[in-house]
Amino acid sequence: MNYHILTLFPDMVRDGLNTSIIGRAIEKGILSVEAVNIRDYTKEKHGHVDDAPYGGGAGMVMQAAPVCDAYEALCARLGGRRPRVLYMTPQGQVFNQSIARELSKEEELVFLCGHYEGIDERALEMIVTDYLSIGDYVLTGGELPAMVMIDCISRLVPGVLNNDLSAEIESFHDNLLEYPQYTRPEIYEGRRVPEILLSGHHKNIDLWRRQQSIERTLKRRPDLLAGARLTDKERAYLQNLVSGEENG
Ligand code: SAM
Repeated sequence: MNYHILTLFPDMVRDGLNTSIIGRAIEKGILSVEAVNIRDYTKEKHGHVDDAPYGGGAGMVMQAAPVCDAYEALCARLGGRRPRVLYMTPQGQVFNQSIARELSKEEELVFLCGHYEGIDERALEMIVTDYLSIGDYVLTGGELPAMVMIDCISRLVPGVLNNDLSAEIESFHDNLLEYPQYTRPEIYEGRRVPEILLSGHHKNIDLWRRQQSIERTLKRRPDLLAGARLTDKERAYLQNLVSGEENG
């Protein structure tokens, strides 16, 4: 997977993505991250890339030309291919695990990071294919959202995690939250690891974990359950939990 990040702050994304699991995947050549400085594409002699909004109002707006030119230069480097351009914006669809899964199948992805009041609408109309947000709040720039999405997408690219299975059974897989996890020691501050996890009985452990996932999702994110894929037995288990909650 090759990521190209169009930004006014290339160091921020380079530094942010160069550590731990993502950094190692870059080193191994499974991922590449190119930070393109939009400022390199301005024709303005003082290096400006923004200007006041037409119609008045607060703040500055990033100009269309440097953004479009940065993207066109990238496409030329890619031999004419025009990868999807994801604009980081609080006005976009809220990013989630299934969007991440879909994006992880692409070979190239462009992340367009706005700053100030955002980007001239004409540039967005010309090059953006997807409008994505990381939540209903406003940040100063698109760099952190791009890093959040790249981190999440990368975990789904084969070979990035040591054990690809771990992405398969995590929270949001099957629309359920993950079961609780424990590690050594067996007793911590008087709290024991659940006995079942020490039993070595893998079938029972799987059943317990699945039930814990259902219970936890019901408690913390009941909105997810409508889309969960449950067996008849699991549905009955859920129904019991719901009746238990209703009866007090
Ligand atoms: N004036 C814009 C509006 O009201 O929609 C907000 C601009 S914001 C201060 C500057 C940049 O930060 C945006 O262009 C976008 O790239 C990024 N940004 C801010 N909040 C975001 C969010 N929740 N998700 C994704 N990107 C965000």
